Amino acid sequence: SPLKAYFTGAKEPPNKRMATCQKCIRTPDIENVGKTSRHGTFFEMLGNFSFGDYFKKEAINWAWEYLTVELELDASLLYASVYEEDDEAYEIWKKVEGFDEKKLVRLGKEDNFWEHGTGPCGPCSEIYFDRGAVYGCGDAGCKPGCDCDRFIEVWNLVFTQFDKDEQGIYNPLPKPNIDTGMGLERLAVVCQGAGNLFETDTIKDIIDMISQITGRGYGKNLDTDVSIRVITDHIRGTVHMISDGIIPSNEGRGYVLRRLIRRAARHSRLLGAKKDFLHELTDLVIKLSGQAYPGLIDKRDYIYKVILAETQKFAQTIDTGMEMLGDMIKNTGSSILSGEDVFLLHDTFGFPKDLTLEIAQEQGIGIDLAAFEILMKAQKKRAREAFMSKSAAWEKGTGSFDFLEGISNEFTGYDSLVTLSKPAVIFSDEGALDFAGPGEVVNVIFPKTPFYAQSGGQVSDRGSMTAQDFRAEVTDVKKLDDLHVHVINIIEGRLDHDTEYMLSVDKASRYATMRNHTATHILHKALSQEIGSHIEQKGSYVDDTRLRFDFGHYEPIDKKVLDMIEKKINQVILDAKPVTTGIMTLDEARKSGAKALFDEKYQNLVRVVKVGDYSSELCGGTHVSNSGQIGAFHIISENGIAAGVRRIEALTGENSVSYFNRTEKTLSDAAALLKGGLEDVPGRIRIMLDTVKELSHKVDELNKKIGTVMIEKDAGTIVIGGFTVISRIFENTELKTLREMIDELKTKHEDLIVLFASTDDNKVTFLAYSSDSAIKKGVMADKLIRETAVIAGGSGGGKPSFAQAGGKDPAMTKKAVEQGISYIKSFL
Ligand code: ATP
Ligand code: MG
Repeated sequence: SPLKAYFTGAKEPPNKRMATCQKCIRTPDIENVGKTSRHGTFFEMLGNFSFGDYFKKEAINWAWEYLTVELELDASLLYASVYEEDDEAYEIWKKVEGFDEKKLVRLGKEDNFWEHGTGPCGPCSEIYFDRGAVYGCGDAGCKPGCDCDRFIEVWNLVFTQFDKDEQGIYNPLPKPNIDTGMGLERLAVVCQGAGNLFETDTIKDIIDMISQITGRGYGKNLDTDVSIRVITDHIRGTVHMISDGIIPSNEGRGYVLRRLIRRAARHSRLLGAKKDFLHELTDLVIKLSGQAYPGLIDKRDYIYKVILAETQKFAQTIDTGMEMLGDMIKNTGSSILSGEDVFLLHDTFGFPKDLTLEIAQEQGIGIDLAAFEILMKAQKKRAREAFMSKSAAWEKGTGSFDFLEGISNEFTGYDSLVTLSKPAVIFSDEGALDFAGPGEVVNVIFPKTPFYAQSGGQVSDRGSMTAQDFRAEVTDVKKLDDLHVHVINIIEGRLDHDTEYMLSVDKASRYATMRNHTATHILHKALSQEIGSHIEQKGSYVDDTRLRFDFGHYEPIDKKVLDMIEKKINQVILDAKPVTTGIMTLDEARKSGAKALFDEKYQNLVRVVKVGDYSSELCGGTHVSNSGQIGAFHIISENGIAAGVRRIEALTGENSVSYFNRTEKTLSDAAALLKGGLEDVPGRIRIMLDTVKELSHKVDELNKKIGTVMIEKDAGTIVIGGFTVISRIFENTELKTLREMIDELKTKHEDLIVLFASTDDNKVTFLAYSSDSAIKKGVMADKLIRETAVIAGGSGGGKPSFAQAGGKDPAMTKKAVEQGISYIKSFL
């Protein structure tokens, strides 16, 4: 509960003391409703709370004072219970003035200890009112806590003094709390001496109205009375739940609501009502509660319609379903109704399983719940799979939902972007819906719509759907045969079938899309003019950002040809040719020379789109009314996408302007860096590139020179027996550079031996050189390189004068070179 954190002290309450009135829905008591005098599924609970402030003594004494002084209840009829281990509460009660200790009972954990999983909890003390033996069960042991109607619990005082942890240990709270609950209707029963919750002064009006509508007197027959009371209770809960935003459904709170409505509808049938009347009780319920809950008054029409729609939906099948269930019960031959039967009733007749269970139980029969649940699970899985394949069928336009039969729609979006229309069908993945609310994403079909549904390569329109107090986004429009299915996301308000909605297509995006579509037709024509009449469309895609045109052709298109095509298209744009459409027979269209995709299936009547006298094409898409509106056309790419298929992508209108702007910005940034005008950019870059090339060549030369000078001063240079022996390890140095260094060293030393290594992350390369004089001494470069490389896990070879090797273990390079040097030393 929202108060939990206040009880534990985790959060500071706005006040240490509070008093509340809450609307409650309790379904565990649903079977008892109408049968006992004190249970409703809907009731109002009054409460007073202390968050670490006053405790047991005050709570008990004040409750007593309120009942006996304020409400003037007869103290001799009041009883109290305490938790059997709560001596503290017992002692407090004993001292309450005017309270007779004999009326105090100790009860066990089940009745008088309030806990809910882990968290704040504690013992309670309940206050009962003795309504007299007439309401009693007559048992000798009848006392407060008995299930009968004699001792009615009106008030429960909960002493929230513990915090139960995961281990089940009750840790005392540093600051204990008070949480009390008193049923307003029960209090009214006691104060007014009413027979039960529903016969209290105001609620009684509902009983009377039901009795009047059905012509069944109240108080003559028990079954009739129970049914009347059930309806009385359920209609109150129903009205309040709907006004709080709950919609009948098969899950969660929506299911509780559906169950209440259907249960009430069934009881109205038990009363012999010929037609549904639940919705007719709406105004009365609102009249009785509207003063305390003004929200009810505002939502009156909505509540009325929801109830009506739900009962109508149920009515269609309930009668046959009831008959069927009757037969099932007769024929079961056992005391259990099979899971299949329960499922059939649920699936075909919309009988909530609890309703079936109840009706069966009235005849002393149970239901096989486990088997039912298995069937439900399997059905959910099937429904999911069916929808998957259905939505796959959508793409092909062959799927069909039953409720879509006979539905048609007209596309008004060729001439206008705004249309008023009432929904023809609202549906979700599961099926048809009567209503939908904020946050829901549902599908809607309208008799008239300006929204284009994706087809012929043109994407669907986006936009909005509005009415007074209603706002939704149209996020997609799918095509299901000829139907435009609007996928909408409700932002605000309720969607229903009776409201006329304003459907508005997003203008900017639609116009951008139309420019691209008309430009695609012009491109098609220009390609066949410039490249050849064999050019055939293989596909196209048009949205508000760009256009894409795929066509059959065997080779890339020359840049010059592309430029020509682009120029031609821009000429058609500049010529501002009117774009016209006409409906004609397929034959007429062919004869007129209109382009068509001949592998597409056309109806006998086709729509032909003409751009002046330039292009003529069969097309169902939306187009600008004059080629001049395209503004500009620019090809951004041409490439192959499959064998013999090329793709051109292009921009029009604002998209090409902003493309040019971006490009110009880049170019002027470059010009600024080069300190010149836009036209100077290529020349200056060419000069810079030449300079860079020259400079890097010079840097190379210098590096080499510096390298050889350094090497000779290096510890790696030693003189043995008159021979200069140079060894050195480089990192990531090109072989070519190393070789050039050796050539350089050769010019300086006649008696020379060189051993170089260059390492990188995962390998090492060795180079060796021996002068003729060294070869004569026996130092062969190829043998030397092998002796060396083997240490670094490698091998190599070459000539006695020059050799090269690789090694896989760069970490061993130093060892390898040392090995090479000692090899050299062994000869000199
Ligand atoms: P009972 O044993 O009579 O069903 P309870 O122990 O379920 O009552 P609590 O959970 O303590 O009742 O609720 C606090 C108060 O709310 C009760 O003292 C009673 O006045 C009221 N209340 C509880 N359940 C109902 C109900 N189904 N209909 C009307 N009032 C109720
Ligand atoms: Mg209860």
